[in-house]
Amino acid sequence: MSQHYKHKDIHWLTGQFCDASSESKYRDSIEERVRFESRLALVVASAIFAMFGISDYNLLGLTREYYLLLTMRIVVVSSCLALAFILGRSGGYSRAVWLHAFPLWIFALGIILIVPLRPESFSTQVTAAVVAIMAFYLLIPNLLTVAAVASVCLSIGFLWAAVIFVGISPAVTLRIGLLLVMANIVGYSALLRIEFLQRKQFSLLNEERDQNGQLQAEIAHRKSLEKQLRMVAEHDALTGVNSRGHFMQQVEAQLHRSQWEETPFCLFMIDVDHFKHVNDTWGHTHGDQVLTRIAEVCQQSLRPTDIIGRFGGEEFVVGLPNTDPGDAQAVAERLKENVAALTLGGEMSGLRLSVTIGIAVANAEDDLDALIARADNMLYVGKRDGRNRVVM
Ligand code: GH3
Ligand code: MG
Ligand code: MG
Repeated sequence: MSQHYKHKDIHWLTGQFCDASSESKYRDSIEERVRFESRLALVVASAIFAMFGISDYNLLGLTREYYLLLTMRIVVVSSCLALAFILGRSGGYSRAVWLHAFPLWIFALGIILIVPLRPESFSTQVTAAVVAIMAFYLLIPNLLTVAAVASVCLSIGFLWAAVIFVGISPAVTLRIGLLLVMANIVGYSALLRIEFLQRKQFSLLNEERDQNGQLQAEIAHRKSLEKQLRMVAEHDALTGVNSRGHFMQQVEAQLHRSQWEETPFCLFMIDVDHFKHVNDTWGHTHGDQVLTRIAEVCQQSLRPTDIIGRFGGEEFVVGLPNTDPGDAQAVAERLKENVAALTLGGEMSGLRLSVTIGIAVANAEDDLDALIARADNMLYVGKRDGRNRVVM
């Protein structure tokens, strides 16, 4: 039975399943979507990052700082585009998370590096850093832990660069620090909520699938039980031929059809001669074996359209649709001879078996009981006249 996922199995701090295999299944399930969204986000973020090259030029002109910035931007953008390409080919969200984390570090490094190169536009950069933090959490698909580590490092690095290279006062440092902390808290809480809800949804979906699977298995089990039950009800346990009830059902329908279509229909009543003697001499178990063999021979002597059933004890009945009296007689004779030719092994090798067969030919008004009664009468006549014979 497959595993059940529970909400309490999601870690409150990381928003991931506590159980590694559930987490990996979940990540596998969203892999395609993450790949697509990561590539899109990386391309968009790269484009925005590149566009700021224009403001660099406006601000710095063709200075050494401008070329340094330009080089940095080209490195960041091209490595992110390369990563977007690689992610599309081989980014596995469950196995290669580091590959998804990598672009965040490149962007973070790029944003921090701008601080010493463009100290005049520091206030704009604060906004850019806050936006980047939000984007890390919410726009570039990533694990909460990955996004949080990258964002916190970006915040610390940015603040550190501001203090060293821009020389902001302690009061401004505190204000910007608080702003970055706030951005991290908001981004973290929002992504935690999203991670939690998505995994909860995944759990519920899986639970439903499990239940569906169980239901299907239950249905299959019931069907097989039903089939077994039908098999038991329709067949005689010893000989495997039709049970009496099932035989009656089938032959009644056949009889009605032949009367409706005005085609001939015959019925055999077969009784094993002196069967009591077999039981008395070799025991009941051997008697059972003999009955099984006789049933086999009967079945082999009939045509596929004929229906045989065990009527009770050592008596069998056969319904022969589309069979005129002459053909029925021929089939019965063949059957009788096949039984006579039957040889048994072991202790019973000397035993010669025979059957007596009574045949009734259906007329337009017959019901099955009347037909059986007539065949039974013929059988009685056959027994009285010395057995091992066919009587019509
Ligand atoms: P007849 O030639 O007149 O038909 O003689 P018979 O001995 O075959 O007939 P009788 O009705 O006297 O005996 C039938 C015997 O078949 C009696 C019964 O114990 C036995 N019998 C009925 N059902 C089974 C069975 O399932 N297994 C075995 N081994 N014997 C059975
Ligand atoms: Mg009998
Ligand atoms: Mg008998």
